[in-house]
Amino acid sequence: MRSINPATGEALASYEELTSVQLEARLASAAAVFPAFADRSRLEDRLACLRRAAGILEAEADRWAQLITLEMGKPISQSRAEVAKCASVCRYYAERAGDMLADEDRGGGAYVRWLPLGPVLAVMPWNFPFWQVFRFAAPALAAGNVGLLKHASNVPGSALAIEEIFREAGFPEGAFQTLLIPSGAVAGVIADPRIRALTLTGSEAAGVSCAIEAGRHLKKSVLELGGSDPFIVMPSADVSAAAAVAVRSRMQNAGQSCIAAKRFIVHADVYGDFHEACRSEIAALRVGDPLDPATDMGPLATSRIRDDLIRQVADTLASGAKVSEGARPLDGPGYFYRPGLLTDVPVSAPAYGEELFGPVACLFRVASASEAIALANVTRFGLGSAVWTRDEDEKALFIDRIEAGFTAINGMTASDPRLPFGGVKASGFGRELADLGMKEFLNAKTVTRA
Ligand code: NAP
Repeated sequence: MRSINPATGEALASYEELTSVQLEARLASAAAVFPAFADRSRLEDRLACLRRAAGILEAEADRWAQLITLEMGKPISQSRAEVAKCASVCRYYAERAGDMLADEDRGGGAYVRWLPLGPVLAVMPWNFPFWQVFRFAAPALAAGNVGLLKHASNVPGSALAIEEIFREAGFPEGAFQTLLIPSGAVAGVIADPRIRALTLTGSEAAGVSCAIEAGRHLKKSVLELGGSDPFIVMPSADVSAAAAVAVRSRMQNAGQSCIAAKRFIVHADVYGDFHEACRSEIAALRVGDPLDPATDMGPLATSRIRDDLIRQVADTLASGAKVSEGARPLDGPGYFYRPGLLTDVPVSAPAYGEELFGPVACLFRVASASEAIALANVTRFGLGSAVWTRDEDEKALFIDRIEAGFTAINGMTASDPRLPFGGVKASGFGRELADLGMKEFLNAKTVTRA
């Protein structure tokens, strides 16, 4: 496995994939450590390890941030913010897991006890290479589950660094392990009887293939998949504030975020002003060296991601859409792309129904709230959504009618350790974060006493 610096196209390092003997040893280690690790008397030990993990993340924040930026290209300021957020999720569960795991009295002597399931396989993407893993691992380890990470093949350095952080934090051998394996080896791991559950964050295709395996072996799964989030702007909105937030939501991490605002759906009364504000915000973005603190946008993470975006934009333009700003690859080394804005996107275009996983926004004009809702719900996805309006009736309508796991009113969709996160429709099922996220991988055991 090789990591390649997407800002230069040069190889950073190469890593040996696990042999079948090494993989077997890791599965055996996970199964062996689980019973003692999961014991209720060990809760405080586990939470102390999580606090130490937070401390290690913070103490060496620059080291981890540099690794993230070198492996997948996000601007260094965004990598630092990602590391800080990982520390915050460790501290959140260190403080709250005790309450979340307490027995729940159901009356008459009956209660629910929350018990861990065992080794959980986490298949994770590269776009937030630390955060995606920590948002699974912090609640899982707090509760006494054991984690096995199959990370994306382009971020093996991050995968190994996370294992190192948990080991240094004092988690016992086997409690959290990285499996450097290709995606073709995942089905065999899901099938292994020692694996009790699966969490996957990634594309719809990966979700389908892993969910089939999980279903075949009757294993609980949580899937966090793609999105094509709507960002709706109505006439009563603060249009310039909405445009600034829309562009930030779409463009951060070079547009490679599941919950980016991918489709701007704007009422005709404010369409012109919103369009111009977005266009100038996008034109002002500085694309360049992600290690330079002044850079707003680094390269796309891999040549495949950029090639996919180039193809989707070309097909969208061929179906009749127009370029309002940018939306083209940049010459030279690395996988840089000038962020863009498309208008007049027809129903037949890829950008209408597919996810664009890069820095290109699509602008749509609507005549009413009901038309905005219909367009918001037209894709197969249902992850996040944002609505800008000052009208209380409109707010209520959007909250109830938009098919998504998240609606932000006068803001943008963002994950937060305190809030459940996940989607509906082809964006997946199950929730991460908060108490709901922790309980996805717990056995709610009912206990009665005569
Ligand atoms: P991807 O190709 O699906 O990769 C994600 C992970 O799945 C990687 O570890 C990958 O391993 C593995 N994988 C891919 N195909 C697999 C298969 N057939 N069987 C088993 N494992 C497989 O996703 P991506 O294109 O890198 O990431 C972008 C997608 O993730 C977007 O759709 C985005 O919206 C979504 N995403 C969703 C969320 C969310 O919370 N809902 C968050 C972030 C990203 P290899 O690298 O070895 O192929």
